[in-house]
Amino acid sequence: MSLVARFIVFLLCSLVPAFAIANTAEHASQCPAVDANDVYARSSLMHYVCYYQASPGEPAHSARRPDELPKNLEWTPSRGHDLTFTQTRSVYWIRLNIRNSGSERGLWYLNLSYPLLDEVTFWWSNNSRDVLVTGDQHRFGSRAIDYRYFLFPIKLDRGETRTITLRVHSSGALNIPLRLESPKELIASSNHLSVTHGLFYGAILVLAAFNLLLFISSRTAYYFHNALYMVAMGLFLFTMGGFANQYFWPESPQFASISIPLTLVLCALAMSLFGRSFLEVKQGTRADKTLKAIIWICAVFTGLTLILPYTETILYNTALGLAIIFVLSIIAISRWRQGYQPAKWYVLAWAIMAGGALAYAGAAFGYLADFLARESLMQIAIGGQVILLNYAMVQRWRLLNDKLLKVEQEARTDLEHKVHERTAQLRSTMRELEKANRKLAALSLNDSLTGLFNRRHMDNILTELCAEARRTGQPLTVALLDADHFKSINDTWGHGFGDIWLQQIAGILSRHVKRPRDIAVRFGGEEFALLLPGTDTEGAKRVCDAILEDLRTTEIEAPGGNLAQLTLSAGIATLLQDEDQQTLFARADRALYKAKARGRDQVVLADV
Ligand code: GH3
Ligand code: MG
Ligand code: MG
Repeated sequence: MSLVARFIVFLLCSLVPAFAIANTAEHASQCPAVDANDVYARSSLMHYVCYYQASPGEPAHSARRPDELPKNLEWTPSRGHDLTFTQTRSVYWIRLNIRNSGSERGLWYLNLSYPLLDEVTFWWSNNSRDVLVTGDQHRFGSRAIDYRYFLFPIKLDRGETRTITLRVHSSGALNIPLRLESPKELIASSNHLSVTHGLFYGAILVLAAFNLLLFISSRTAYYFHNALYMVAMGLFLFTMGGFANQYFWPESPQFASISIPLTLVLCALAMSLFGRSFLEVKQGTRADKTLKAIIWICAVFTGLTLILPYTETILYNTALGLAIIFVLSIIAISRWRQGYQPAKWYVLAWAIMAGGALAYAGAAFGYLADFLARESLMQIAIGGQVILLNYAMVQRWRLLNDKLLKVEQEARTDLEHKVHERTAQLRSTMRELEKANRKLAALSLNDSLTGLFNRRHMDNILTELCAEARRTGQPLTVALLDADHFKSINDTWGHGFGDIWLQQIAGILSRHVKRPRDIAVRFGGEEFALLLPGTDTEGAKRVCDAILEDLRTTEIEAPGGNLAQLTLSAGIATLLQDEDQQTLFARADRALYKAKARGRDQVVLADV
């Protein structure tokens, strides 16, 4: 019988008082004998089993041996049903007549495949001394055979008929499924089940270990909670299946009785913890508060399970487990409706488990045929639930990953946008800076009053022009021009009027210096220079004459209303072979000096 299924039978028996199919059976004074050699008869063993439910106070309740039973006891035939009884304090007497119709002595086993019975006493003959006492409240070593279920050997001589009697006493609900098997059949079914259980528990264990590793590496709580749930669920099933009594605590019958409510409440706790972290219930909401309260209740119940008697804790913990499944389903469905996709798989996982459990319960109570076949169905349901829960976690991980990628993408786009913005700002600033630099450079090379180039620029450019003229053999002529008696202009009409004249002269110079490479310079107070690359002395003289003439005919109204006039004197020198710029400049200056000396307002060519 399946582990969980057994639990469900157990659970329904606990929660639905006075429900026991076997109780409705008719009375029969005697039970037919089953032929142990007849495979078909053995497979319908429950048609041969009779029982008597002895309530407290009855003589059969206090009887310790079959010969203490009242002689007129009315045995009830079980009529093909498994014996399933509600929460009860009764003692159950079971009787089975077995005949060996074969021609040889034979050995069979009576297999009572419900490992959670407190006390089972087995008499294999009418002799009260042929007895075996076992059950949960006895050490595991009390069993006839080291097996998780109760196995009772029955040896029959050729043609022999025996009456087998069982006395079962257990706290809480109970279930007495019986089978009569030959050693060969027993070994075959045990082998078959070992593989199934090995695969099932192995898979649960590997998944739990995997989730634990995921938790250690990612520190994400729900991986731990899922591992906890799988371990708790595995342990619960292991206990329900009788494996835990056999392997974990064979020497501790007192622990055996609390192990089921204990593993059950641990399951409930793990379920709540996992649900809370997995469903991402928002902090402070009603759902969150409920789950927190449930987790605390589970913790308290875990403590109570160690103190209170089994009959109470099994009821409380079962009710708690059901309440938690109900609450978690509601929360999961509402999270699903809120658009949280992994909740869908979570709901499906629980639905599959619940479906399997209901199908098993239905079979257990005779509503669905083939009760034993539901065992694998139940394991598939639990396996399916575990796989779906893990798949739900993968979905959740994928969702998180998608979110993360989206955030990263947004951050990258934002960053790119900002970089673009900053680059554009930087470019514009650089353009401004360049403009300012150009302005600054112009300012540093130009004369602020007239706008002509200044002395600094002349010094720089003249060196280059001299080198170029020497290289190309082209002429380079320098003309120096000085305002005549300029001091008297200042003295007569003031400095401001002098400045107007200086601007006037600059305008005239600019007008006459037409070639792109010609340069007009104000290099001193009222002293100007023309740098004329590619122009010989003749050409320069023509330009200077024109300038002098232009100024000569210019009149400006002075303060006071009079018209003022001004003249210029000029000295011209053309670069000689192997001459440096200082010498060239000095020759032009001497020519200018001569022009002054010769009466001003004239152009003088420098000596060669
Ligand atoms: P000469 O014909 O011999 O050149 O006589 P001059 O008076 O022009 O010569 P001088 O060198 O004695 O005088 C130059 C005058 O130019 C002196 C100064 O007051 C005037 N000057 C120099 N720079 C400026 C200026 O920026 N603005 C004005 N208004 N006058 C200036
Ligand atoms: Mg002068
Ligand atoms: Mg001067």
